[in-house]
Amino acid sequence: MNRHPPIHLVSLVAFGLAACGTPAGDGGGAGATATGATAVTSDSAGTLILRPDRIIDGRGEVWTGREVVVRDGRIVALAESGSTPAGLVYDLAGTTLLPGLIDTHVHLGWHFDRETGRIHSGESTDGPQDQALYAAGNAWAMLRSGVTTVQSVGGPEDVPVRDAIAGGTIPGPRVLTSIRPITAGSGTPEEIRAQVDELAAAGADLIKIFASASIRDGGAPTLSQEQLDAACGQAAEHGLRTLVHAHGPESARRSALAGCSQVEHGALLDRETLELLAERGLYFDPHIHLVFQNYFDNRERYIGVGNYTEEGFRQMEEAVPTALAAFREALTVPDLHIVFGTDAVAGAHGHNWRELAHRVTDGGQDPMEALVSATSLAARSIGLEDEIGAVADGLQADLIAVRGDPVADIGALEDIALVMKGGTVYRYEPGGR
Ligand SMILES: [Zn+2]
Repeated sequence: MNRHPPIHLVSLVAFGLAACGTPAGDGGGAGATATGATAVTSDSAGTLILRPDRIIDGRGEVWTGREVVVRDGRIVALAESGSTPAGLVYDLAGTTLLPGLIDTHVHLGWHFDRETGRIHSGESTDGPQDQALYAAGNAWAMLRSGVTTVQSVGGPEDVPVRDAIAGGTIPGPRVLTSIRPITAGSGTPEEIRAQVDELAAAGADLIKIFASASIRDGGAPTLSQEQLDAACGQAAEHGLRTLVHAHGPESARRSALAGCSQVEHGALLDRETLELLAERGLYFDPHIHLVFQNYFDNRERYIGVGNYTEEGFRQMEEAVPTALAAFREALTVPDLHIVFGTDAVAGAHGHNWRELAHRVTDGGQDPMEALVSATSLAARSIGLEDEIGAVADGLQADLIAVRGDPVADIGALEDIALVMKGGTVYRYEPGGR
């Protein structure tokens, strides 16, 4: 299965669309460009006008009768629709405009090897350049699907991809990466501190920590309180956030006591632990659907590698209702910040929205709350709330348009009409899929 277009095509498409910020003027009046956007006047260079039916601002507000004005990569106004005197108009009739989605937990580099079709493992002959290209393909798949920022937890191949995207060489979401995780094998508290120092020096944007076993192995704690104190304490010394893989109450409780930033998965968490996370101000990033369903759908591509055993799959099947119950409990805990992340692995990139949809349709989350969790709340969780995550003056123009209204039907997130990141349009399909 190869959903990703070849990279050279990707780059051409992105480059061509990026050029639409300078409309092909026809001496004034309306002139359609190659992309279907329309210039209002000939002196509109640099101004883009997005005209949807409604705007969801990412902070809980809905606007109608407004257009978003973008200049130099940033949102400069939410103006009355039709009031902006000059600019290149993107007609988004029938759509809802919202901030690009922010996924706080992906695995950017995970992929199925081309030769075998199976999950990449140590036996592959792929070199580092192949790894980076697979990650670049995943990045493009996610950007096309409306995810404009990802936090990858994380492999060394993330780094060149992050930097190439940031430098404008290849298209993709903004990438933050932990590069490598801290695990039970990382050693004593002192050795863990040294590894955190190394990761900080290597340009890690955050530190990822495994404090419990995989759900396929029961999810029991794997790091002591002292080890977690060392990891999260040393990360804080560098101003780095800490994301902790923790399935059960004990590992999550230790993470909270250690002052870590965010707890991942949490399939087995009880109310008391969820309340502790809220009290200590940790973000909770549950994964209730996409990662499980993707494993089940791609079972043959995973089984036989590492802990992807028959027993491992059985444990995952058992975890589905447990994780859903923990999520439903979490929704009722006051002041708990439930942030959006998917744990997207090989096969799941570009389907990130399905996790959000499932939280609404099966988890019972309010759709607006779900959208906020994937936009302004997610931006706050990664320390970028002054740059992205909302449709507001001054923020970077990371915007998507979907046909329909995702508050009325969260499944509308699949039906993308426009993807813009930093003012550059990477996808514009006003007419439908
Ligand atoms: Zn993960």
